[in-house]
Amino acid sequence: MVEPFDAVDVIRTKRERQTLSDDQIAWVIDAYTRGVVADEQMSALAMAIFLNGMGRPEIERWTRAMIESGERLDFTSLGATADKHSTGGVGDKITLPLVPLVAAFGVRVPQLSGRGLGHTGGTLDKMESIPGWRANLSNEEMFTILREVGGVICAAGSGLAPADKKLYALRDTTATVDCIPLIASSIMSKKITEGTGALVLDVKTGAGAFMSDESRARELARTMVDLGTDAGLTTIALLTDMSTPLGLTVGNALEVRESVEVLAGGGPADVIELTVALAREMLTAAGRPDADVEAALADGRAMDVWRRMVSAQGGDPDAALPTAADTHVLRAERDGVVAAIDAMDVAVAAWRLGAGRARKEDPVDAAAGIELHAKPGDAVRAGQPLLTLHTSEPARFGRAEEVLADAVTLAAPGETVAARPLIIDRIA
Ligand code: URA
Repeated sequence: MVEPFDAVDVIRTKRERQTLSDDQIAWVIDAYTRGVVADEQMSALAMAIFLNGMGRPEIERWTRAMIESGERLDFTSLGATADKHSTGGVGDKITLPLVPLVAAFGVRVPQLSGRGLGHTGGTLDKMESIPGWRANLSNEEMFTILREVGGVICAAGSGLAPADKKLYALRDTTATVDCIPLIASSIMSKKITEGTGALVLDVKTGAGAFMSDESRARELARTMVDLGTDAGLTTIALLTDMSTPLGLTVGNALEVRESVEVLAGGGPADVIELTVALAREMLTAAGRPDADVEAALADGRAMDVWRRMVSAQGGDPDAALPTAADTHVLRAERDGVVAAIDAMDVAVAAWRLGAGRARKEDPVDAAAGIELHAKPGDAVRAGQPLLTLHTSEPARFGRAEEVLADAVTLAAPGETVAARPLIIDRIA
């Protein structure tokens, strides 16, 4: 086959800050998926895009090319479907209570999720701490569980947006992840191919987010909402704060435990607030604005769907979750009021305790992580526990403690700490 373009010319076009044509984009993505464009050429192009950006029509064409690189799922025969995507946070276990909560109202939720890399946690790692639970399903199994149970959390099959799978792995090793056109097209190509009818994006900003800067997070949200809307998907985004870890736990099994508390009608206020807000948005986008979301958490309907979801994927919802062999408590050095808890410091510490992985093939320690005993605004006394570190390898405590040295900021006793809003904005 004679190739219509030359990768070097495409790279040069972007290096010279020119606009890539529709045909250049369609070709370069297809040729990369086929192995005709080499990794080093795609790396150079990704860096040129990182440095020089892409206009909205280029991003839209790039996203379409990634969608066209693989198969598309179709759940229209199942009625209303909705999904959410979070750009990734610390202690962000919201998917776990959210999927069964929305499914409890008859809206199907096909939630394709990922594993954690670096400081960010991954939903599949959390779910895999449930004994027996299986992340990999065939398209037929996914369809059956969606029809019979209503919600499914699983790994994306290899047929969905294969160009993104290759490109994302490459970006991870070439310092080109943190780029709005590449992030937006990567996320939205997967969400559009997944076949959901409505999509709610949770775009995080603050110390523990990919986009710590609020104006860049807003731009990312706007770009993704426009890509989804233009592709015929009802899409809205909530811009949410990720300067403090969500809830009181960070780490796989610890976060499952907290999610089950929320499904049992309890749990920390911020996890409930965000779960309820996202569920309302998903249900409204799927045509159920009247759904009484809080009632379904309080009366056990969401818990019932959760148990059936876990069982359908081989898990035992009643099994004991892994617990760490060792724990170590960090205490307040003086009286005061918690002014801030740095989400990034807590994330890195949890990762160092074994909750995360450095390479994608590394195993994770399901029991590792951090429990928070206070949140911003809480008064603490000298000697009171602030954080409990959990790990199966006590040799890991030292490096985790190093990064936590300044993680908790204490204001003077009695000082008022202004609460940051969790939900900063809604972008539609
Ligand atoms: N998540 C994705 O799926 N892609 C990105 O580029 C970043 C986060």
